[in-house]
Amino acid sequence: MNERFVLRYVKLMSGQEIDIVIENKKIAEITKAGEGSGQQEWNGSGAYVSSGWIDMHVHAFPDFDPYGDEIDEIGVKQGVTTIVDAGSCGADRIADLVYDSSRAKTNVLAFLNISRIGLLRIDELSRLEWMDREKVRQSVRAYGDVIVGLKARISRSVVGENQIEPLCIARELSRETGLPLMVHIGSAPPDIREVMPLLERKDIVTHYLNGKENNLFDADGKPQQVLTDAIERGVHLDVGHGTASFSFKVAEAAKRHNIAFNTISTDIYRGNRLNGPVYSMASVLSKFLCLGYSLEEIIAAVTTHAADWLGKPELGRIQVGDIANLTLFTLHNEPTVLTDSEGEQRVTDRVIQVKGVVASGEFIECEIRA
Ligand SMILES: [Zn+2]
Repeated sequence: MNERFVLRYVKLMSGQEIDIVIENKKIAEITKAGEGSGQQEWNGSGAYVSSGWIDMHVHAFPDFDPYGDEIDEIGVKQGVTTIVDAGSCGADRIADLVYDSSRAKTNVLAFLNISRIGLLRIDELSRLEWMDREKVRQSVRAYGDVIVGLKARISRSVVGENQIEPLCIARELSRETGLPLMVHIGSAPPDIREVMPLLERKDIVTHYLNGKENNLFDADGKPQQVLTDAIERGVHLDVGHGTASFSFKVAEAAKRHNIAFNTISTDIYRGNRLNGPVYSMASVLSKFLCLGYSLEEIIAAVTTHAADWLGKPELGRIQVGDIANLTLFTLHNEPTVLTDSEGEQRVTDRVIQVKGVVASGEFIECEIRA
């Protein structure tokens, strides 16, 4: 849009009310509430504005089943202006994902699956020949502006008989390409005590609040030594809620022991979007409100923290001259039942609802969802 568009009376996380003027896709002006001028406006009274939300773990490749979805269904329609596909594609299909993203309104980045087949099958690391190192290097060279890291899903159903070997290969590929790893954790083997020591500074462990046997907390809810050591080394903790990877009990234990998330992500795809337990980014964020984290901490996890990890600080701030990527949302008082991946429920009295986004300068109103 070339005309001036004003988001009026929107509230920053600090509570300060402002107007934001958008012109030629950029933030043209930030004024006191009521003072911005433009041909079109959206009345944001009562709504918060943050920089556009970033979801660090999604599955945005619709061809793959079950772990796939349409980009904008899990992006802008959810209030998320930037998604990071978490290894849906390996070398064989990354070009197709990049092509699809050029036609979407949501900004798309990706972790490249170290298995060339990606999530064509859900045991993508069960055969070592699928880890084709030369293909990984070629993809990274060709799509270096989209690929932000390498993905390795290190749990029993994915690695089959290969135990820790795929993670060792991932580690070597990380060294060669200079890209950090996102490592999914789950059921053993391999044992979590073998997995975590291989992670280094800047690597991401996703599903860190999973409630499976092989999780990062002991029977009393105390963080395992391998977790506290990893945090010490600078390993980044990502939620990756997913169908099977978020437990309220574990999350409550983590909170008691001050093991906070760096980023909150959904691990969303068609099935868990439509049927739960994920539904939407707002629903996942509401679970963290229910756990007792502040709205500021929660929003930082999908804005500044993610933007910093990506080395794209402009995605985590609201600043004149930047391309406008913004999320508009409200806090709604309404008793709501929230369900985790184990079928455990909590009742909350406040939920986050998305009202709209500005994605690369374009305003899109969002329907309200659970
Ligand atoms: Zn995933």
